[in-house]
Amino acid sequence: MPADARLYAYSAVLMGSPILLKLAEHDEKLAGDVFRLIRQQENLFTVNRAGSQLMAVNAAAGSHPVAVSAPVFALIKRAREVSLLAGSCFNFAIGPLVKRWKIGFQGDSVPPAHELQALLALTDPARVQLDEQQQTVFLPQPGMEIDLGAIAKGYIADVVRDFLHQRGCFCGLINLGGNLQTLDAPAGETAWAIGVQLPFGEPGALIGSVAVSNKSVVTSGVYERYFELNGRRYHHILNPQTGYPLDNELLGVTVISDRSLDGDIFTTLLYGLGVEQSLVFLKDYPQIEAIFVTREQQVVLATQQPFRLLDERWRVIDSTV
Ligand code: ADP
Ligand code: MG
Repeated sequence: MPADARLYAYSAVLMGSPILLKLAEHDEKLAGDVFRLIRQQENLFTVNRAGSQLMAVNAAAGSHPVAVSAPVFALIKRAREVSLLAGSCFNFAIGPLVKRWKIGFQGDSVPPAHELQALLALTDPARVQLDEQQQTVFLPQPGMEIDLGAIAKGYIADVVRDFLHQRGCFCGLINLGGNLQTLDAPAGETAWAIGVQLPFGEPGALIGSVAVSNKSVVTSGVYERYFELNGRRYHHILNPQTGYPLDNELLGVTVISDRSLDGDIFTTLLYGLGVEQSLVFLKDYPQIEAIFVTREQQVVLATQQPFRLLDERWRVIDSTV
């Protein structure tokens, strides 16, 4: 690809995901600083390793409030607000269910219904207590757990973008395992072509691409992490009402927005709403654009960014015309 020929790519595996940084100039030092920054940020939010602030909050469930740093408090506060939106399938208190299913972490069995029911009782986001003055978070019942797995990467992608800008770097992109944040397109190009993956396809197989610059592109797909049992597929985005993986006509949702945090929040929200309700919902959020990939091999566009179909088996439906 001609655009890529003038770019320098740096990669690493962090947060269990492949991370790709593209820069217009060769700058090993900057790339190293970016990867260090990502690792540092991850340490604030992970719930899979001891020592993070979030782990401390979860470990103190039913016992006492825990003071966290300003960015962690702000992200938890935002996550709580979104979790309490009417009809929201996003729930930041879903930790107990995520841990039980272990999807993507050698989980390969369906928990018994009564267990899921019991765990659901521990996932009410309204019960998580935030104290603005003290900057503390309190989970009032033992077993409650915050999980920011759906939004941490988006938050970090925005931190990386701001960091690159601060360092005078305005052309490039960062891909945090599916959370993309783009800066300016390479010289001579008007936009980055960001691939929309073919669900369950070979790695790198695309349905199409969307052209963007200085925007985030986040995709959440049922094909990203799942296991199969008795001919059924169980993927990693759970319905906070039922405790089972969300089940509707969608295979994936791609959200295009300025902030990758919004992209992350909205992929989960829209995924839960399904296409029809999402299109209505998005009318209130003109700054959020989306592409829906459905089981009926449709690509439903709710975006002004140019989309190019690369796989003729799919049918494009433009909801904006
Ligand atoms: P990834 O980009 O890692 O594939 P997503 O951004 O789609 O993941 O988020 C999925 C993760 O979010 C799950 O692994 C889990 O930690 C968490 N999660 C699952 N269901 C929900 C939900 N309904 N609300 C909020 N977070 C969820
Ligand atoms: Mg997400």
